[in-house]
Amino acid sequence: MSTDDQPFNSSAVEDAYLSIRERVWRAAQNAGRDPASVKLVAVTKTFDAEHIRPVLRQGHVLFGENRIQEAMRKWPPLREEFPRAELHVIGPIQTNKAREAVAFFDCIETVDRPKLAAALAQEIQKQGRAPKLFVQVNIGEEPQKAGIAPDEAAAFVRQCEREYGLSIAGLMCIPPFDDDPVPFFEKMAALRKELGLLDLSMGMSGDFEAAIAAGATLVRVGSAIFGVR
Ligand SMILES: *Cc1c(COP(=O)(O)O)cnc(C)c1O
Repeated sequence: MSTDDQPFNSSAVEDAYLSIRERVWRAAQNAGRDPASVKLVAVTKTFDAEHIRPVLRQGHVLFGENRIQEAMRKWPPLREEFPRAELHVIGPIQTNKAREAVAFFDCIETVDRPKLAAALAQEIQKQGRAPKLFVQVNIGEEPQKAGIAPDEAAAFVRQCEREYGLSIAGLMCIPPFDDDPVPFFEKMAALRKELGLLDLSMGMSGDFEAAIAAGATLVRVGSAIFGVR
């Protein structure tokens, strides 16, 4: 499923994974933070089971997928083999996929609008299953990007909690692609603090160390572990 035509080399994935683990740990230390306070979400979108297994075999637990259908196709056998695996959805969710999102994932990082919050709340009640929920913030205020506007985030989190009875555990963002991410990471950290939330999911392959320095509690790393997509 990867675009790579080379024969798959599981030890290359293993080495890349261990090296990212090490860099995450060191970035936390360098920032004067407890390395245990920063979690690595291994982003497996577009990669098949063969690529994911070496990382699971290392005992890794947290994984991110951006498409619900793809995750539901790929992960059931992997979960059977590795029951401790936890799956985060990190991509946009259509309201009519709320049922699948609640049934299948351990954390939904992309709660970004009232309609989706209402649909998730209904499913959580119906299914008696409560994945962890993060609110996605469109921190660069980019028109094409999902997420709640930064100055509406506080009201939206409150609405999720009071109107829909949801418990919001944290915030997530994808900063603008071409800009220096640091000012956006710092804005997110301030927002997390202001709202008194625990988790902050930000930082990808190219910028996770800067995200950790700014206060990320989860970093989402794909290509630096699994290769180019
Ligand atoms: C793909 C993706 C990532 C990982 O990106 P890499 O650059 O491959 O590390 C992180 N977050 C989201 C929301 C993604 O879609």
